[in-house]
Amino acid sequence: MQKKVVIVGAGTAGLILAKQLALGGVDTTVHEAKKAIGDGIEKASGILSIEGLSSLGIDYADSVTNILDTAILHAGREQLVIKTTGAKAFVVDRRELARLCAKEATAAGAKIVLDSRLGREELKSIADGCILVGADGAVSNVASTFAFPKINEYVLTYKTEYENVDIDDYHTAELFFSNNSSHRFFAWTVPYSKERLEVGIGESMHSKRNSKSAFNTFINSSAISGRLDKAKQIYGCASIIPLECRKETVKGNVLLIGDAAGQVKATTGGGVIFGGMCAKSAARAILDHINKGTKLEMYDKAWRKDYGLDLKLHKLIHEYYSSLSSSGFEMVLKISKIAGVGSFLGKYGDMDKPSTILKNFILRGNKIR
Ligand SMILES: Cc1cc2nc3c(=O)[nH]c(=O)nc-3n(C[C@H](O)[C@H](O)[C@H](O)COP(=O)(O)OP(=O)(O)OC[C@H]3O[C@@H](n4cnc5c(N)ncnc54)[C@H](O)[C@@H]3O)c2cc1C
Repeated sequence: MQKKVVIVGAGTAGLILAKQLALGGVDTTVHEAKKAIGDGIEKASGILSIEGLSSLGIDYADSVTNILDTAILHAGREQLVIKTTGAKAFVVDRRELARLCAKEATAAGAKIVLDSRLGREELKSIADGCILVGADGAVSNVASTFAFPKINEYVLTYKTEYENVDIDDYHTAELFFSNNSSHRFFAWTVPYSKERLEVGIGESMHSKRNSKSAFNTFINSSAISGRLDKAKQIYGCASIIPLECRKETVKGNVLLIGDAAGQVKATTGGGVIFGGMCAKSAARAILDHINKGTKLEMYDKAWRKDYGLDLKLHKLIHEYYSSLSSSGFEMVLKISKIAGVGSFLGKYGDMDKPSTILKNFILRGNKIR
């Protein structure tokens, strides 16, 4: 039985796993292709539920840059305001969060090797003598090397950050739905602070456009034009988000976690919380395998049992909103507003667990307001 663990990728999922394994006394090494922890992470955003973030067991306080208490969904001329009772989400500096995760993994005894991109042959030879974990993100080399089932849909994103923005309410994030300009996904604005705003867009890979041209259409649209007149764009970058979980996440002694496994909310593309929680499931399965001789396949069963329902519900909701035409989405927002869906979600919403929203809806019958 292999007792050494090699993790490919020092994103949050890989680092959370490394910390848990090292705390359990396992010889753990993380290989990271980039020269520094968090390099390139500005491609992604950092809206995380406070409850989910707390469940990861990381001392994240120094990474928080803003608190969000309102979301506004736009479609055409309609909008739905969801104002939460109390703050439910943080905006975090993702680079800082990754650094904090690395600090805790190293303090626990894990080794991190930077500037070390592992190719196919190296991965195969490592898997000969160690437990190998692919935490290498959406385009996982580990998944392709060991022929894991494919992910059939990705969202292509383009994201920028502006400074000197006059932001009305910097505790409000906005989502803009239009199947014409952001096919099967949406565009968004997220305030990092009083005058720094992130603006981004995602489109299904099935759209024939690239994400930068979708972004240009969006910032010149009536939804946002005018707001950025005096603002200065700091950077812009493209990335990719998986929209479904892989059908298999363990093969022999090779496991996948995080984006590599597709453990992402298809509704919003958020993957830090589920990736981190599944990393903790992987740690428990690996420790049980090493200490008690149980099968590594238990990992696949465990994360699907604990998080599979919510990830499936995210996928269903994504399929529903993606199937709507722009005017159909506008109509849904209009009806939702009349039915009091905004205030219901403000009181009982849960960014990570649609099952909790359903439970609350069933418990409260038709008293949606
Ligand atoms: C535009 C955008 C916005 C997002 N917004 C949010 C959000 O608001 N909230 C949220 O929760 N999630 C968000 N996400 C998703 C989130 O960023 C991912 O789910 C999360 O980063 C996945 O973490 P991970 O550790 O699995 O992978 P990653 O963070 O992708 O880390 C993988 C690491 O592996 C390394 N690597 C890759 N290949 C190799 C190799 N061969 N050898 C060695 N190292 C390798 C990479 O350099 C990287 O550091 C967003 C994503 C995008 C693109």
